[in-house]
Amino acid sequence: AARPDADLLEGLNGPQREAVTYRGQALLIVAGAGSGKTSVLTRRIASLLRTREAYPSQILAITFTNKAAGEMRERVHQLIGQKADGMWISTFHSACVRILRREAEQFGFTKSFTIYDSGDSRALIKRLVKEHEGDSFGLTPAGTQSRISKLKNELADAESYARSANMSDPAERVFVEIFSSYQRELQRANAFDFDDLIAQTVYLFRAFPQVADVYRKRFRHILVDEYQDTNHAQYALIHELTRPVGSDAEPFSSGGMMIFDAEPAGEDAASLTVVGDSDQSIYAFRGADIRNISEFERDYPGAKVVLLEQNYRSTQNILSAANAVIANNFDRKDKKLWTDVGAGDPIIGFTGYSQHDEAQFVADEIEALHKKGVDYSGVAVFYRTNSQSRALEEIFIRSAVPYKIMGGTKFYERAEIKDALAYLVAVANPADSMALRRILNRPRRGIGDVTETAIARYAAEHDITFRDALANSAQLGVGPKLQKAIDQLDAVLTEATAVMLPASGELAPSTSVTEGLTLLLNKSSYFDALRASKDPQDEARLENLDELIAVTREFARNNPEGTIIDFLTEVTLVADADDLDDASGSVSLMTLHTAKGLEYDAVFLTGVEEDLLPHRISANEPGGPQEERRLFYVGITRARKRLHVSLAMTRAQFGEVTVAMPSRFLQEIPADLIDWRQSPGDVNGRGGSQSRALNARGRRPGQPGGGNRYGDDLVPLPKRAPADPSKFPNRIPAKVRDNGDMVLAAGDRIRHDDFGEGRVDAVTGEGAKRVAHVRFDTVGPKKLLVKIAPIAKL
Ligand code: ATP
Ligand code: MG
Repeated sequence: AARPDADLLEGLNGPQREAVTYRGQALLIVAGAGSGKTSVLTRRIASLLRTREAYPSQILAITFTNKAAGEMRERVHQLIGQKADGMWISTFHSACVRILRREAEQFGFTKSFTIYDSGDSRALIKRLVKEHEGDSFGLTPAGTQSRISKLKNELADAESYARSANMSDPAERVFVEIFSSYQRELQRANAFDFDDLIAQTVYLFRAFPQVADVYRKRFRHILVDEYQDTNHAQYALIHELTRPVGSDAEPFSSGGMMIFDAEPAGEDAASLTVVGDSDQSIYAFRGADIRNISEFERDYPGAKVVLLEQNYRSTQNILSAANAVIANNFDRKDKKLWTDVGAGDPIIGFTGYSQHDEAQFVADEIEALHKKGVDYSGVAVFYRTNSQSRALEEIFIRSAVPYKIMGGTKFYERAEIKDALAYLVAVANPADSMALRRILNRPRRGIGDVTETAIARYAAEHDITFRDALANSAQLGVGPKLQKAIDQLDAVLTEATAVMLPASGELAPSTSVTEGLTLLLNKSSYFDALRASKDPQDEARLENLDELIAVTREFARNNPEGTIIDFLTEVTLVADADDLDDASGSVSLMTLHTAKGLEYDAVFLTGVEEDLLPHRISANEPGGPQEERRLFYVGITRARKRLHVSLAMTRAQFGEVTVAMPSRFLQEIPADLIDWRQSPGDVNGRGGSQSRALNARGRRPGQPGGGNRYGDDLVPLPKRAPADPSKFPNRIPAKVRDNGDMVLAAGDRIRHDDFGEGRVDAVTGEGAKRVAHVRFDTVGPKKLLVKIAPIAKL
């Protein structure tokens, strides 16, 4: 008889089939990009359900983004032809929030805890660094935040860190003090930061084995996508969940590293499937640990390992480029991806003389593809850092290319949105004084620092929440006007509480969040203040708040039983690749980190320059350049049919024009795979473009660009003729001239490729910005950027 899941195996290759049907305890699928890892995971879930080996509620699948979770759920639904409610397909963070909301009361939190995003936690850490005078010990808020985050990802708390640290060093002592006060403040505010969500769930399971058992019994099949990017805390969480039911052995902690007794997974343990690609590990900076993959077989003895090598996503040209690039990382097992779809189009290369020139190339090329029938939604543009999107956006708007920014919208980081959410949090979690303090004087109602401090002191003295202190403010003896303002705020919050959190037993209608938010913004006069403002930006802020209200409506539609707490959870967990609206009909712009796991017909990899990709900060990190190479590899392997790599020779950042060098990674792609429309050599060889750069540099800031098409700092080159491949024979990006070390002094004679011989009058500036003032025999005085000018000393 045919297997009930036979149709689910159709079209799969041998190893893929094996991965779907294997039924042992532990399965590791390691494979390169686009080889079907995520597809196999999805089919495996479908197969378990179809064969009735598992109920939906016994499945826990972990994806990298909420969006990926939604797609996987949808796909399983399509495959088995029915809704599989009760399945948990979610990110690590969302899964942990669900667990913590259920169990929070076990360890001193309430269900309505707040989740601090990294901005919130930064604000708190900033205050603590100041209070502890951390700056006199060289502690910055950013550095402290990242250290605390790293430690939490290693499951180290302030106490265990203190045991391993050199506590005779005063800076270490202050750091430990800040770390522990930070944790105390979070607890007092009934709040978790992002890292806590995972770490606290692990602690919960360890401290309450009977609670862990509930989840061990429930989740019989655990599947994790993108396993290469799990950190230690996530690893430990999975480990806890896959212990045999009833195992309460306490692992012991030493200096932050957890050591497990290597017990074999008993009969009762859940089955675990993880898929990953160590070449795509790009989150080491957030504590991801490739060892979680390489040591899987040790941690799960008897684990089955399946390798996938056939790629179903990209053309051979794209794969060959990816293979060649990643081969430069020395500490990896060699694996080669192949495909049977054929060579496909060559990779197209382009070098702009500025980032706007580069952006114009991208826009022109997208338009050309669109005319050929490629849908905008099949096109993605990647960059290394968020700030690079601005130039692209400007040109896209002018060229009427529809686009949307994934992840980088930062909608939820806008001040007005944070204010609105703080109002909601102040209602949902009265213990969260940060939220309430944020809105105390927004809009301005005359409640200043002095009053804020007085309320805080009153709360501390009477051991009550800030919210309760606010309600008792009559005790503070403030003036009548101020008292009225405080009373009004208190009344608004009380009224909104009645709407969104009715007395226990009653269920708030699903529209209560919309109603409550509207009420808060109206009655607090937040809306009025914006409407009365003459600042044009406040107009945009009103629109954003309307958008947020629309989000609450959408939420109510999708979650008829949803409460304000569910809404806040959802909003806080919106991950990088998740977005408010769907991508239909527009080009997607995103950072390379966000691109993981996705695929597009046409991909533009922009800003492929030294100091951007590899990023300058990676130079000092151990393994940094390797991780950057993996990031580049992730970018290349997103492309199905067409890949474009581009760069700019000059880049304006933070108001300064800097000279850019082609990325070393470009040289790692075999020359015959790239068709350079304009190679770095084409741009760099022209003395002209450099003197243009210099003219621009000489201009006073703020002076208009003068006839400049792009609002650029540079005068544009004439519009390019349509690309003629025969005119631009394939070539490796000419190794860009780097005269950085050339010693020049007034009086020296030089030769320039275009201008001939001349005499140096003076040299100004330093380093990469050194400028030679040269009087040429034929063309007269010119200023040259020494680093890149095609010059030689005579
Ligand atoms: P990444 O490493 O980028 O996450 P992946 O290994 O998860 O990639 P998938 O996204 O699952 O790969 O698959 C890549 C593409 O190949 C998808 O479009 C998928 O539908 C397709 N694919 C996978 N397996 C097969 C197959 N056996 N036949 C045809 N297409 C397949
Ligand atoms: Mg995948």
